[in-house]
Amino acid sequence: MIESGAMDTGRAVTERDVAEGLRNLGLNESSSVIVHASLRSFGHVDGGADAVCRALVGTCGTVMMLAGSGDLTRVPAPPGLVRPNNAYYTAESWESFDAALAGAVPFSPDLPVDRWLGRIAESLRRSFPHERGVHPFLSFLAVGTHAGRLIAAQRVDRPLGPIEELADLGGHVLLLGVGHTSNTTIHLAEQRLGRSLFHRYAKAAPGVWMELPNIPGDSDSFDEIEPELAPFTAQTLIGRCRARLVAVQDVLACATRLIRADPAALLCEKEDCRCSAALRQRLITLRWSG
Ligand SMILES: [Zn+2]
Repeated sequence: MIESGAMDTGRAVTERDVAEGLRNLGLNESSSVIVHASLRSFGHVDGGADAVCRALVGTCGTVMMLAGSGDLTRVPAPPGLVRPNNAYYTAESWESFDAALAGAVPFSPDLPVDRWLGRIAESLRRSFPHERGVHPFLSFLAVGTHAGRLIAAQRVDRPLGPIEELADLGGHVLLLGVGHTSNTTIHLAEQRLGRSLFHRYAKAAPGVWMELPNIPGDSDSFDEIEPELAPFTAQTLIGRCRARLVAVQDVLACATRLIRADPAALLCEKEDCRCSAALRQRLITLRWSG
C-alpha cells in the first residue's frame, strides 16, 4: 500500500533545498532562530540530519535548539517534599529515592539531546561547535553569533531565559514539520502570567540531586494558537516539510492575549493529563486568592 504523500516527486531533499527554503522564509545571516524540527517530515534528506543542520547554520547567524537532559537525569521528588499542584511523582521511601538517584545519569554538558527532541538537535550537538547550558533538566544548545549570549541567559530558576534573550534580539521561532505543541516559546508566555511553573528533580552531579523550579508542563493544546498566529507567520514547503517562521515577540504577544482573555486558553483537555489537571487546580486557587 502506498502511503499518502508518497506520490510526490520522490526526489531526495538536499542541503541546498533546505537552505533555499529557509531563505524563502526571509532568513539570512542576521537572523537568530530557535528551531523545533522533525527530520522525518522532509521525506528523504540527502545527508540526513547533518545536512539540515548545515543548511540552518549556513543560512542563519544564530541557531538555538532545546537539548533537554531530563530523559537521563530525572529523579522522583524525594519523600516528604510535595509541592502543591505539581503533577509529578514522589518516591515512597528514601531507599527508593536513593535507588532512583543511583540509576539516573549525572548531568554533564555532553549528554545526548533528549530523544523526544529529535535527531536534528542531536546532530547539531554532535557535529557542530556549540554552546550548551548547564541546566540539569532543560538545557539549550546554540551555534553562531549570539550563541554565548543566549545560553548565558539561562539560570537554574529561569530555564527559559534563552528564549527571553532571543525575544530581545528580535529572534524567530522556526517550526520544521512540527506543530506548536513543540513551540517552547508559548510556555514562556504562560510562565509570565503565572502558569506552567512546575518543580522537577534531577541528578545534577554524581550523588547530588537538585530541585529545579519553573519547569514548563503540558503543551498538548498549543496548536489552538495557530489561527491567531497565522497573520504573522511565513510558510513554505521544503520537500514534504511544512516550514513555518514567526517572530518570538509575536508568539509571546499572541499567547499572552489569548491567556489574558481566558486563563484556561491553550490548556490540554485530556482527562488523564496530570499537567493540565494541576494547572486547572492552580487557576482555581489563583481565583480564590485574587
Ligand atoms: Zn495533556
